[in-house]
Amino acid sequence: MEYLSTRDKSLRLTAAQAIKMGLSRDGGLFLPADLPTITAEELQALAGQDYQSRAVAVMGKFLSDFTAEELAGYAAAAYGPEKFDDPAAAPLRQVGGHTWCLELWHGPTSAFKDMALQMLPHLLTASLRKTGEDKTACILVATSGDTGKAALEGFADVDQTKILVFYPKDGVSQIQKLQMVTQEGDNVGVCAVEGNFDDAQNGVKRIFSDEAIRQALADRGCFLSSANSINWGRVLPQVVYYISAYCDLLAQGAIQMGDKVNYCVPTGNFGNILACYYAKKMGLPVGKLICASNCNNVLTDFIHTGVYDRDRPFHTTMSPSMDILISSNLERLLFDLSGGDDALIRDYMDQLRRTGRYEIRQDMKEALQELFYGGFCSEEDTTATIAALYADGYLIDTHTAVAAKVLADYRRETGDEGPAVFASTASPYKFCDSVLTAIGETPAADSLDRIGQLESVSGVTAPRRLAALRGKAVRFEGVTEKEKMDGVVLDFLR
Ligand SMILES: *Cc1c(COP(=O)(O)O)cnc(C)c1O
Repeated sequence: MEYLSTRDKSLRLTAAQAIKMGLSRDGGLFLPADLPTITAEELQALAGQDYQSRAVAVMGKFLSDFTAEELAGYAAAAYGPEKFDDPAAAPLRQVGGHTWCLELWHGPTSAFKDMALQMLPHLLTASLRKTGEDKTACILVATSGDTGKAALEGFADVDQTKILVFYPKDGVSQIQKLQMVTQEGDNVGVCAVEGNFDDAQNGVKRIFSDEAIRQALADRGCFLSSANSINWGRVLPQVVYYISAYCDLLAQGAIQMGDKVNYCVPTGNFGNILACYYAKKMGLPVGKLICASNCNNVLTDFIHTGVYDRDRPFHTTMSPSMDILISSNLERLLFDLSGGDDALIRDYMDQLRRTGRYEIRQDMKEALQELFYGGFCSEEDTTATIAALYADGYLIDTHTAVAAKVLADYRRETGDEGPAVFASTASPYKFCDSVLTAIGETPAADSLDRIGQLESVSGVTAPRRLAALRGKAVRFEGVTEKEKMDGVVLDFLR
């Protein structure tokens, strides 16, 4: 299995090279040259297996330079009971006659990012070995909250890696901040940036393209790498759980082999729903790909009109992990829809950078609308959806509520009442404030008190690592101006 770049399809890399590099030198994203397939017989066989075995089977199709034994070792370590509080890793919960919720937050940091970031360190360290790399990979992360903690937890004390996370000083929830600044491990660093998420992200991007820093790091035996969802090693582990959900429905007798299932995904950077698209392209019987946005609805408009236009107000919402106006992973979908026209992709991305907008070809727009339904959910509807599901006995977070609402809209608008799965991307305990308010409670003044408050009101047990935050020592108190992030990196690697 070879990998090419969305901006240069003549490139040919191994999976290990693509995972190690993260982003192509031409600025494009890596993707497999040919997508493998999954047959009905294989799905039937996987229906009788556990999550770890499904991960080995699916990922093995893409990673021909890794052995099944290697992958089995990674899957056992990544998704085992030490890390995940549910033996199914990604359990499916029925919430209506034809509706299931795929719970992706049973990992160590209580957000779906763990599904990939528990696996990525194994893939990356093996990739360093396979490519004969002897330098230390220095992973730089800019986070709006969930990715930072999940990456820290995944890479803490992993050999031949160091990880440094930048978060916007006032742009993450109190619980998200505490999760990060109390992180243990000898190879980790966390620093607040005076600015918003875009400032942190732009700072990281600048460091990546700074030749002087690159050289300084090389002198210290390091090179820069990425744990953001632009890395193929993050997209691939996400393909697994869409296939796994279908296998669970088969195993439960809820569907017959071949029945189409609609999937609804709360979307920000387009990484999670892109993985579902790949599962469908591999042959998984997926009906509609339902792309759910909050009021930063740039993707809803794009699916409706074929015009991507990021020139619009940025809204800070109660589902902050979806507050994104530039969905990086869309580039991989566009490459596919264009039939692999790398020159066209370069042109679109260039237009986006220069003018903030591009419009796709008519044939691409038709293909897009055939595959995807786009919808969005207001703040009021997010609150109302949490309340409604809670009344039915199910406590969900703000991001999951966006998906539940858009799925309901899809059904009403199209009359398609077929079986559907919506993704639940975070534990409600990560967003206690909004969730308590939505179910009619007044949140306690102290953010850690709200965890116990939500627990006693709802009767749902809080994830143990969140509950344990209170006793943990703060290790990282550094704050930097956005112009001085490079100095923080050099200090960190001293
Ligand atoms: C990251 C995140 C999302 C958005 O996922 P993308 O892959 O960026 O589309 C949705 N919900 C939660 C809780 C997240 O952390």
